[in-house]
Amino acid sequence: MDALGLADRLRPVLGDDAVITDRQRLRTYECDGLAHYKVTPALVVLPETTAQVAAVVRACADEGVPFVARGSGTGLSGGALPHADGVLIVTSRMRSILQLDPDNQRAVVQPGVINLQLSREAMPLGYYYAPDPSSQQVCSIGGNVAENSGGAHCLKYGFTTNHVTGVELVTPGGDVVRVGGKAPDAPGYDLLGVLVGSEGTLGIATEVTVRLTRSPESVRTLLAAFEDTDAAGAAVSAIIGAGVIPAAIEMMDALAIEAAEAAVHCSYPAGAGAVLIVELDGPHEDVAHQFDEVERYCRDAGAFEIRIAVDDAERALFWKGRKSAFAAVGRISPDYIVQDGVIPRTALPGVLRRIAAISAEKGVRVANVFHAGDGNLHPLVLFDDEVPGESERAEEVSGAILDLCIEHGGSITGEHGVGSDKAKYMPRMFDADDLDTMQLVRCAFDPASISNPGKVFPTPRLCGEVPGRHRGAHPLAEAGVAEVF
Ligand SMILES: Cc1cc2nc3c(=O)[nH]c(=O)nc-3n(C[C@H](O)[C@H](O)[C@H](O)COP(=O)(O)OP(=O)(O)OC[C@H]3O[C@@H](n4cnc5c(N)ncnc54)[C@H](O)[C@@H]3O)c2cc1C
Repeated sequence: MDALGLADRLRPVLGDDAVITDRQRLRTYECDGLAHYKVTPALVVLPETTAQVAAVVRACADEGVPFVARGSGTGLSGGALPHADGVLIVTSRMRSILQLDPDNQRAVVQPGVINLQLSREAMPLGYYYAPDPSSQQVCSIGGNVAENSGGAHCLKYGFTTNHVTGVELVTPGGDVVRVGGKAPDAPGYDLLGVLVGSEGTLGIATEVTVRLTRSPESVRTLLAAFEDTDAAGAAVSAIIGAGVIPAAIEMMDALAIEAAEAAVHCSYPAGAGAVLIVELDGPHEDVAHQFDEVERYCRDAGAFEIRIAVDDAERALFWKGRKSAFAAVGRISPDYIVQDGVIPRTALPGVLRRIAAISAEKGVRVANVFHAGDGNLHPLVLFDDEVPGESERAEEVSGAILDLCIEHGGSITGEHGVGSDKAKYMPRMFDADDLDTMQLVRCAFDPASISNPGKVFPTPRLCGEVPGRHRGAHPLAEAGVAEVF
């Protein structure tokens, strides 16, 4: 039976309106935030409960039909790109916050719950959910878990993986299992660590238990303007080197500032070659003391103007420029690639200079916006698709930036995931043995390779196939360390 054939089996379980077969409606789901990849799924289902997700996955497993999970579809690496012969399982009807448990500093949520929705609900209790992707108004907790998403405030508070203590998972065979719970740690292998960031390739999260973080007593924010990114980078190193961990340190270069000004008129200091937004939070006295230090480090590094937000409205204005930056680039270029790589923080000045050199050499403009505190770069590579050859050059520059990240001990993704888009770059970072070993983990969960196939790994392979240059058994299998299903 093909995916469309499953519709009749699933309608009685999910209800007619939760099983979509109409071609026009299916097309609504043809891409995620990376809109240049498009695939129309064969079938879309909108389950409301774990039991319904399990029924869908079991039907897929019985018939060998691939499935892909989708939260809000804001992913930037094509992770939720549908499979043409598969079922897209969308969690947008799974938006209940099942439990707010401030005494244990935990919340239990369905996977479709919107990131910001959770913080809003927890706020009256004096808590919030700390990981804050810029897309937090729309992205889902399930998507965050699958991508191990980060955000501006993850420098101090850590990524999603540091805030998930339990997951209920529908395995690719259709079983419902629980990994972790409200307690901080469990003995045995760190399966939760394996699940977080697995990009939907190991099953579907149907319930997530997360940490709630106490709302800070005080928040203070400054905007510092520098002549160039070298000086701003020196300020970042000085701040972190002194042991101050701000809640966030964000940097924008001249081109990114130009774009933000054009889009949202954020009135950043004129003539800035780079700006830093530094936010501190915590108890009043700590924040006051550290804020003076941060201000001093910025001046010492050459900041020619420092503005301190006097109230929430001014803080919001500082952030408006930064948060609008991706979209704002559309004001200065018809097309652009949002790249995402990460490097050790100390490599920032050198890598930014090399990016500038590549950009000049290839004649391709690159705007830089990034989480400077943890070295997570988001170069925006600008091009005009109407001009022959420009998109290819932009793609080349984009790949060269990832090579730079690898060369400096970093990674091809800081927070947006590998998905469909970056699978081709995986062999630049990992050798065949590394990739084979990752496949063994995947096969342990999904021996039939039906859970989001074709994502993350460069060559789609079925479990049990002999990958890469190995013509015999995998070395780990030969050694009796692991079993190939
Ligand atoms: C403007 C903008 C700003 C962004 N800023 C940031 C940022 O600051 N930091 C950051 O990290 N990301 C950012 N992103 C990327 C994106 O928002 C995140 O990756 C987010 O976590 C995706 O959530 P989603 O619900 O949209 O997931 P989707 O795009 O629907 O899916 C993403 C992946 O998760 C899988 N998935 C979804 N739900 C489940 C589930 N229940 N179980 C298993 N797998 C599942 C999908 O199969 C897919 O592989 C940004 C995106 C945009 C458009």
